[in-house]
Amino acid sequence: MSKKETTCSFCGRPKSQVRLLIAGISGHICDHCIIQAQSIVKEEIPSGGVGLEGDDAPLNVLKPTEIKAKLDEYVIGQLSAKKTLSVAVYNHYKRLNQKVGDDDIEIDKSNVVMVGRTGTGKTLLAKTIAKMLNVPFCIADATVLTEAGYVGEDVESILSRLLQAADYNVQAAERGIIFIDEIDKIARKSDNPSITRDVSGEGVQQALLKLLEGAEVNVPPEGGRKHPEQKMVKINTKNILFVCGGAFDGIEKIIARRVNRQTIGFANVEEERIDKDNLLEFVNPTDLKSFGLIPELIGRFPVLTYLEPLDKTALRRILTEPKNSLFKQYVKLFEIDGIDFKFDSEVLDFIVDKAVEFQLGARGLRSICEAILTEAMYEIPGSKNPVKEYRVTLEYAQKQFSQSKMAKMHAA
Ligand code: ADP
Repeated sequence: MSKKETTCSFCGRPKSQVRLLIAGISGHICDHCIIQAQSIVKEEIPSGGVGLEGDDAPLNVLKPTEIKAKLDEYVIGQLSAKKTLSVAVYNHYKRLNQKVGDDDIEIDKSNVVMVGRTGTGKTLLAKTIAKMLNVPFCIADATVLTEAGYVGEDVESILSRLLQAADYNVQAAERGIIFIDEIDKIARKSDNPSITRDVSGEGVQQALLKLLEGAEVNVPPEGGRKHPEQKMVKINTKNILFVCGGAFDGIEKIIARRVNRQTIGFANVEEERIDKDNLLEFVNPTDLKSFGLIPELIGRFPVLTYLEPLDKTALRRILTEPKNSLFKQYVKLFEIDGIDFKFDSEVLDFIVDKAVEFQLGARGLRSICEAILTEAMYEIPGSKNPVKEYRVTLEYAQKQFSQSKMAKMHAA
């Protein structure tokens, strides 16, 4: 029996009629189909997309003002962080476009640290930027990282995750963005007595340095611990942008101490100018060092910015203004059932007040809305008397909320 000729799994051409046939896990693709697929990718991926371009293709990157305008669509307030991030990202991709040997000026990386309370938009900012640029993006939680040999995740696992986000396209991953959350939790214990973490804090910082230094790192593609039989993928981290976020609880005291020291002798003039409620505005790299980050790590994050605490006005805007705000999402959910969904204005105030009262910040808005609306979302779709409009009044919101698990747990 003659052996059947291998064919392209996409167009069916036999091997003898194509120049190239590449084998995949369960099929083959020929050069014709690769070229066609490439043109589809080019068409489908918006301009500014950098993730899947060829190795040296110049990146078409949005200008800082354009990046900021896009961020405004999703993130409320945080002007300073938005501007700083927009410039950092713009410069980062300018750096990637720089041809080696143009002159002797080599642009440094612009890795960013964002300091701000939890739930103020740090992750959202990083995520929005990655989406806008269409580059692979992943979030790593610094608290689960440990230095090699300890129970937990090796720092290389961060790169495995980025590689997965890039659909195992190493080139794309090498231009991606990694957001490391809770970087403050790996602070060195000795400099910060409030942190209970032991030796591993500094060890993890040292391990992270390796990623940040732009080295070639062997990465287990499927994640998990490295072991001798596993096939490794080499990822060069030189062009990966690292963005870190942390609440740095207690850093205000460190800033205040430093600022006071510096202002002594300036006849209170400087002090008057300082907004005591938002000392984070004055955060500088020495404060991060006093908090317990090692100088080598701080040196790898030349861009430092802060996020403001969210006040009631900001929380209220978060409910309704962003492109995919919670309010817009509920409108959409009801619209799918043909129902015009409306909130009384006082309901929005009530939700915001509860988020503040429970100290949940923006993160709490969703659960409060769910507590108020679950019953309606349960009853209305299958109701025998279908309604065209559904309006949530303050009275209804208060009643539903008071009966919710959330309210009961808080009262207990
Ligand atoms: P952080 O990383 O600072 O702890 P996140 O970015 O994860 O906080 O925010 C949690 C959620 O709260 C987000 O998914 C978003 O819905 C909302 N949120 C927080 N801050 C803002 C903001 N400034 N603008 C819009 N939504 C926000």
